[in-house]
This record gives sequence, C-alpha cells and structure tokens, in this order.
Amino acid sequence: MHRRRFLGLSALAAGGVSAMNLKDFVQQTRDQGPGPRMPSIFIGHGSPMNALADSAFTRHLAELGRKLERPKAVLVVSAHWLTPGRTMVSVNPKPETIHDFGGFPQELFEVQYPAPGAPDAAHRTAAAVKSFAVHEDHEMGLDHGAWTILKHIYPQADVPVFQLSLNWGASMEEHFKLAQDLQALRNEGILILGSGNVVHNLGRLNWNDPTGAYDWALEFDRFVQEKLTTGDHQALVHYETLGATARLAHPTNDHYLPLLYTLGASGSGEPLTELHSGMEMGSISMRSFQLG
Ligand code: ZN
Repeated sequence: MHRRRFLGLSALAAGGVSAMNLKDFVQQTRDQGPGPRMPSIFIGHGSPMNALADSAFTRHLAELGRKLERPKAVLVVSAHWLTPGRTMVSVNPKPETIHDFGGFPQELFEVQYPAPGAPDAAHRTAAAVKSFAVHEDHEMGLDHGAWTILKHIYPQADVPVFQLSLNWGASMEEHFKLAQDLQALRNEGILILGSGNVVHNLGRLNWNDPTGAYDWALEFDRFVQEKLTTGDHQALVHYETLGATARLAHPTNDHYLPLLYTLGASGSGEPLTELHSGMEMGSISMRSFQLG
C-alpha cells in the first residue's frame, strides 16, 4: 500500500499530475493511502424494527454517516455474535444479511444490506490483536446488530463491513484488553463500531410506555454517562460493582460488552461526543456516543 502511494507521489513529482485531473489524483492517492484516522463509536441499536423506522434515532444515524469521513471499512462488534471460548473475525467477502430474530413483520425479513466484506482489513485485525488469538470465520454474514444501524449510516451499502465476535466466556478485563489492540486499526481508516445497548433488559420491557424508563434503568444510564464524561473507563469495565442495579440493567452482559470495545479502541483523553440518548419501553437505553 505504501509503495503504491509512493508511486503516486512520484508521478506528481514527474509532472504526471498535469495529465491527470487533480481531483482524480487526490481521490486516487486517498484510496490507496492509509485513510483518515477514524473514531471509535458505540450505538445503542434497540429493536430490529429500527431498520424500517424514521425517527430521531434513525436520523441521528443518517447524520453520523454524512458527518464522518468515509472509512475504508467498518469493524462492527455486535451483541449478536457470541462465540463460546474464542474470538472470531469474519473474512467473508460477501456477507449475507442475517435475520436473526423472530416475531417481526415480513417486511423486516425482506430487508437486505448487501455491503461487501473486508477480508484484507479482517486479516489485519487478526494480526493486530496480540493479546489473544483471533480466528478467521469464512461464513459469517451481518447480524442485525450490524445491518439495522448501518442501513441508516451508509444507506448505499457501499462501505465494506466485517464483524468481530464476542468471546462468550472471556472476562471483562480480557474483552477490554483485546479491544485496546484494535486502536491502531483506526489509523488505517477502519471505523470501530460497538453495537449493543447501555441498558438492556428484555424481561422487563414495558410495552405501555414507549419512551419511559425505570428508576434503575435511568440510574445505570446516568452512571455510564458520568463515567464516559470523566473518562473513568475502569469503572465501566467493572460495572458489576454497582450490584443490583447492574444486574437489572444487564441480566446477561451481551449488550454491554460491545461498549468495552468502543472504549478499549480509544486512546486516553480522546474527546467524547454524545450522539444520541433516550430510553425505550422502560428498560432499553438508546445512548450512543463517539470517542475521537
Ligand atoms: Zn440487540
């Protein structure tokens, strides 16, 4: 990649650019170069029906896609790809849209998100993680934690996407340590996207109160917001010390773990931007944020 970039600059030095439209030249060197440094983002994805919605939540996603520099690839760490005992990365060049849910309207099952995979970026990801082995998966498609939000961020499905799984069984510290190895990928134009929810308790959903929240849900959401603001990532890694409130917010931690990847993939002191907040049906937080 660097060699090709060097050749491009040589062409400029030799006056080659005069034969080339300058805009094309700039675009070409940008495509071949390492890309912009991308941020590390967490999105609270909520219901799969958000894929079809037009709401404040989906509009914030669309705005995010317009605002960000175009990444070379998106690495999604989703609550919905759990692998027991090991971490996997998808090297599938054509990931299928996986409808990994039941009980929703047919319209949702018909949604396709045909973004290409990113095998090269996936290989580099596996190599970048030094602290744990990352195994390649050739079959994995895009789960709904990925495509229901990407459909709004990049509606043309023209940015390559690949997923990293959650090792179901690793400790919180291990997840955080692995995520720290992902930081360097951001310098290669790879956007790190954690997709889960800051509060997620499906057993306590209150269908009669679409925008309401239980006290414990608000308390946990505020705890996360406060620790993000003060940069106290260790408190977020050890969220279980909150006791009963933590257990109510996350009876299982699958939707919390992606947040550790967003945090781990950020350096210390990177600026925090709140992208969205709000509660749904009592026990789901839609909080989304950007670091860097
Ligand atoms: Zn989910």
